[in-house]
Amino acid sequence: MRTESALTAGPGDFFVAQPRQVLLDAAKVCGHFGPPTNPRGKYMSLKRRQFITTAGIGALGAAIASPAIAQSAPEIKWRLASSFPKSLDTLFGGAELFARTVAEATDNKFQIQVFGPGEIAPAFGVVDAVQSGQIEMFQTAFYYFWGKDPTFCFGTAVPFGLNARQSNAFMYQGGGIDLFNDFLKAYNIIAYPGGNTGTQMGGWFRKEINTVADLNGLKMRTAGFAGAVLSKMGVVPTSVPGADIYPSLEKGTIDAAEWVGPYDDIKLGFNKVAPYYYYPGWWEGSAMLHLGINLDKFNALPKNYQAILKSAAAYANGDVMARYDALNPAALKQLITSGTKLRAFPQPVMEASYKAAQETYAEINAKNPTFKKIYDAYMAFRDDEYLWWQVAEYNYDNFMIRRPK
Ligand code: CA
Repeated sequence: MRTESALTAGPGDFFVAQPRQVLLDAAKVCGHFGPPTNPRGKYMSLKRRQFITTAGIGALGAAIASPAIAQSAPEIKWRLASSFPKSLDTLFGGAELFARTVAEATDNKFQIQVFGPGEIAPAFGVVDAVQSGQIEMFQTAFYYFWGKDPTFCFGTAVPFGLNARQSNAFMYQGGGIDLFNDFLKAYNIIAYPGGNTGTQMGGWFRKEINTVADLNGLKMRTAGFAGAVLSKMGVVPTSVPGADIYPSLEKGTIDAAEWVGPYDDIKLGFNKVAPYYYYPGWWEGSAMLHLGINLDKFNALPKNYQAILKSAAAYANGDVMARYDALNPAALKQLITSGTKLRAFPQPVMEASYKAAQETYAEINAKNPTFKKIYDAYMAFRDDEYLWWQVAEYNYDNFMIRRPK
């Protein structure tokens, strides 16, 4: 599809074009000069006018051929499979925002169609589908793929790991994205952070948890790493996709289930089938989502499209977290007024869980050098973060939460 002339011109060449003729050529190539011809046309023609003004005033460089402009904006249609239920405007909505942003930034040239779980790939089959090239993209929580390799968990959350801001710091500034993408090369995938839930709740329980012994024999829906740690305390973990949790809890196939937090959990109705709502979800001090891309398909994109994908992912990453922070307070109030009993995990349960997590880490590190490589970097980063966090952040939040009202 790309011609030789296209390869000589990068995306930045758009802004060194000669004023008049090239603009007319560009308009012909882009297909909408003058009145808009599609539903998005009004917005597009405004953008086009801005471009013409900018280029008309500032263009001093050499001319480029119009095909180069066309090739910097090829028409591409991709498919993205999400692991999350379509009913969740937070999680699934993050994938839709991402796709919409990519389309808007490319004047609809690059379109990514978003599908729910089971439509083009099962919730837990999205990595396989993208690895094989059957589809181009997914949105998921990587810890679902713990069974392939526990190293996947560093893409989402590990027990007693980083909170949301610390996760961003590790990924964007602590080398996390590169470390994780080195790992993903074996799956022919490249991925970028695409959302976060913040610290999750510990989940819905049909009976109270007063002691560590109360966990013994408890059948609990949880994902990824948490199950391995909880099983050391006698919990029987099961991995159930989001949409199947409610019927399992209702029927009593499981005794407890954790999902995310107030806003999502109300939507899935868990408060109707279990009275006790525990916190914090120590296995998810935050849970980062990722937008994953088939590596060959990513490498074949023009550089400007690659940059747009990364920028749109970063936008979704911030927006999903903001949605949770904005939506959870009202959802929490609604839960409490409708009879949900909020409970903190007792301190001995937290301490036993921490100890069980350390044992699990030691076992995995002893046999999985890929895991250990990221573990060492991640935990050193975490410990430094909390060194800082205990000073201003913690004390500010602590005072504000307890201040006289
Ligand atoms: Ca969870």
